[in-house]
Amino acid sequence: MKKVVKFGGSSLASAEQFKKVGEIIHAEKSRRYVVPSAPGKRFPKDTKVTDMLYDCYEAAGTMDITGKLNAIAQRYQEIIDGLGLEVSLDEEFAKIKTAFEEHVGSDYAASRGEYLNGIVMAAYLEYEFIDAAEVVRFDEDGVFDPETTNKIMKKRLEGVEHAVIPGFYGALEDGTIKTFSRGGSDITGSIVARAVCADLYENWTDVSGFLVTDPHIVEDPETIETITYRELRELSYMGATVLHADAIFPLRQEGIPINIKNTNRPQDPGTLIVESTCRQPRFTITGIAGKKGFCAINIEKDQMNSEIGFGRKVLQVFEENGISFEHVPSGIDTFTVLVHQSEFMEKEQSVISGIHRAVHPDTLDLESDLALIAVVGRGMRATRGTAGRIFSALSHANVNVKMIDQGSSELNIIIGVKNEDFETAVKAIYDIFVLTHL
Ligand code: ASP
Repeated sequence: MKKVVKFGGSSLASAEQFKKVGEIIHAEKSRRYVVPSAPGKRFPKDTKVTDMLYDCYEAAGTMDITGKLNAIAQRYQEIIDGLGLEVSLDEEFAKIKTAFEEHVGSDYAASRGEYLNGIVMAAYLEYEFIDAAEVVRFDEDGVFDPETTNKIMKKRLEGVEHAVIPGFYGALEDGTIKTFSRGGSDITGSIVARAVCADLYENWTDVSGFLVTDPHIVEDPETIETITYRELRELSYMGATVLHADAIFPLRQEGIPINIKNTNRPQDPGTLIVESTCRQPRFTITGIAGKKGFCAINIEKDQMNSEIGFGRKVLQVFEENGISFEHVPSGIDTFTVLVHQSEFMEKEQSVISGIHRAVHPDTLDLESDLALIAVVGRGMRATRGTAGRIFSALSHANVNVKMIDQGSSELNIIIGVKNEDFETAVKAIYDIFVLTHL
C-alpha cells in the first residue's frame, strides 16, 4: 500500500499542528510521500504566509522589506522552535530578500511559503526534501505540462522510500518558478499520486470531508461519504470548495481515489472520491451547490427553429466579446444564454448590438441577478421523481423557478432562481432529500 498525503495550510499553521501531522504520518507506513502547503491561519483573523509573501513582494522596491520578511521568518521560527529542530532558514531568507529586491516574480515569491515549509517538514520527519521546481514542469507559456511532469517525477521518485515535495509550484525548463492558482497544493498532491501510482491520495484539511451543502446556508449539513470525480467536478464548479477543481484530472487518468480527511479529527472517515462506485449515496442526491450573480440574455424570434445556424451565430457574438457562457436553455422560438453577470456587464452593449446584427431577433431582454443551483447525484439516474421532488419543494418554499437544465448525463439538475431566493431554495432542496430521509 502506497499513499500520498497532502496537508493544507491550517494543518501546518503552528508547531502543534505539525505534531498532529507527524503523528498521522507515522501512524501508517504507507504514508510515504508528503505534500505540504505553506503555513495557513492559526486563528480566524490570522494571515496566511502565502498572503504575507505576496504583500511583501509587492512592497519590495517601494520600501525596506526587512520588517515584513522578518514577520514571515518568525512564523517559521516558531514552528522550528516548537518542534525542537536545529534547522536554520537564515540563508534561505537572505536569498529571498535579494530575489524580492530584484523583482524575480510574484510566483517565485508566493512559492517560497511551500518551499520553506517543505524544508521544515522534511527535517521534522527525516524524509528526503525534493524541490518541486525540479519535478513539476510548466511549458514556456507558463501552462502546466502534465506529461513531462509525470515522466520527470516518476523518474525522480523511483527508489525513493520517503519524500517531502512542497505543493503549489513548479518551474519552466529554464528554472523560472511558476505557481498553480490559489489552493494549488491539492494539484501537486494529485500529480505525485499519479507519478508513484499511489493506492490512495489522502488530502488532509480542517473539515471532515465534503458536506452535502454549504454550512453557511444549512446548519450542520451531513457529510458526503462517497462521491465520484464527475459529481465532484459539478459541485466544485458550482462553488463547493475543499479541493482545488483541477486536482481531479491527474488522478482520473489512473483511477486513484482521494480521501478528504480532517487533521484535527483523524478518526473521522472523511469523504472518499472515486472514479465510480456501486455504493449508492444515502439520499438520492449527493450534494447541492450554487452561485449567485448570473444574467440571462433572452432572445426571441419567430420561426427561429427553422433558421439553421441561429445558435452558432448568437454564441459567436459571445466568443468575439471574450465571454464564456454557462448554459443555453432554448425553446422553439426562444434562445437564452446564461453568463456571469460581472463578466457580461462590461461588454453588455457590444453583445446586444452584436446579437442584433447577427440574427435580427424580434425581442431581446436581459434578466439579471440570477442564481444557479446544481443538484448533483449519481443516484438520480435510477430514481423516479427526483425533479418532481425538487420542484414541489421549491413551490412550497414560494420560490419561482426561472430556468431548468438537466444535463444529458442525468448527473445533475441545474435550477435558476432569483438571487434573493437562493438560500431558501438550497434549504428547501436539502430538507426534502436529506432531512425527510433521516
Ligand atoms: N499556499 C497556497 C495558497 O494559499 C496554496 C495552497 O495552500 O494550496 O493558496
